[in-house]
Amino acid sequence: MADMEKYVCPICGYVYDPAVGDPDSGIPPGTSYDDIPDDWHCPYCGATKNSMMSFASVC
Ligand SMILES: [Zn+2]
Repeated sequence: MADMEKYVCPICGYVYDPAVGDPDSGIPPGTSYDDIPDDWHCPYCGATKNSMMSFASVC
């Protein structure tokens, strides 16, 4: 099953919500964080995917 957990960019605060995806970067709604390409970057600040932190660990 896909992990639909939200992830947060620790640099700019952007939240990746799997239910929303990141359409501007070609990530359709319903895409789990694990299914994002490794070369995806934060749409706001350009942080790498590995920089993102799980929402649960931040809040
Ligand atoms: Zn960011």
